[in-house]
Amino acid sequence: MTQSGTRLTIGQMDRPRIILAEPFDEPAVEKLRALGDVIQLAACTETALRSAVVDCDALLVRTRGVVTRAVLEAAPNLRVIGRGGVGLENIDLPAAAERGVVVVYTPGAATDAVADLTVGLMIALVRDIRRCDAAVRLGRFAEAREQACAVDLRDQVLGVIGMGRIGRAVARRCRNALGMTVIYNDIVQPGWLDFVAEPVTKEEVYACAKVVSLHVPLDDTTRNLIDARALSQFRPDAFLINTSRGAVVDNVALAQALERGTLCGAALDVFDPEPLPADHPLLRAPNTLFTPHIGARTVEGLRRMNAVVDDVIAVLQGKTPQYPA
Ligand code: NAD
Repeated sequence: MTQSGTRLTIGQMDRPRIILAEPFDEPAVEKLRALGDVIQLAACTETALRSAVVDCDALLVRTRGVVTRAVLEAAPNLRVIGRGGVGLENIDLPAAAERGVVVVYTPGAATDAVADLTVGLMIALVRDIRRCDAAVRLGRFAEAREQACAVDLRDQVLGVIGMGRIGRAVARRCRNALGMTVIYNDIVQPGWLDFVAEPVTKEEVYACAKVVSLHVPLDDTTRNLIDARALSQFRPDAFLINTSRGAVVDNVALAQALERGTLCGAALDVFDPEPLPADHPLLRAPNTLFTPHIGARTVEGLRRMNAVVDDVIAVLQGKTPQYPA
């Protein structure tokens, strides 16, 4: 800011202060260093963020840094928040808009990575690969082989909730590569799809799908979407896959449905909270398969998420960003 309070763009002002609340890769950090003073935080708690942002121009977060209204109020010079990733639930968007802070992110960065993981989890869950692997290692080869009796995925019904970028990528793989029948629910018409899929209600997804796969953002309409009531409508031989956000599923209700056998199995990449406490019932529930929120973590996915720095730099230079939230 000048003494008169006018905001200046790069070239007219001192080097901007850029706060990294979480790690970004070295090439991305180098680009930022060419423009401003980069400060890497060791922790991204709200307290750490509030004290770090006091005189910063740009703040970059990934999944763990939560940019609350209080953080924004502590940052009078903040001009841009870069979110390396897809979900925006960790940023108070209305508070940012009120203060004229531009939020940029990387939609699409992880689409293929998450879709690949989702299909991998689905096949591993349906074929019980985790238990088979353990049995082979324990010398129970014949016993495990004798017990194994899964179903072909061809002609099974996949129910996608949230037919956005990732939902479509999952559905396309399942329809075109695996021969599944795809039904889906979304709150908006997804437009033309390059594969066969039928729009239905959520209740029809629950009642008809052999595999239900969740691909919605976390917001007020989707928090606890899959609660005890929704789970009671699932087929008892159904599998649930969640690679969206942990809080879309009531994790305790899910554990109960698995224990009671009213749901056949579940594979989760995301949890509520992350990580689950060691005594959480879900960790003891049968027929589960877990990964530690690795959906986006491929070489290509991570590279695309780091590209958020390009939009941060664009905003600092007074240019139009490619991916504003
Ligand atoms: P997207 O915005 O392209 O698609 C989300 C879709 O959900 C949209 O079509 C939207 O209309 C629909 N939707 C919203 N609310 C709904 C509701 N109540 N009922 C039905 N449909 C609803 O987003 P995307 O790129 O496909 O990503 C989806 C989510 O995946 C992200 O928001 C993020 O939470 C999650 N994600 C997870 C990982 C991971 O590492 N596991 C990585 C990237 C993204």
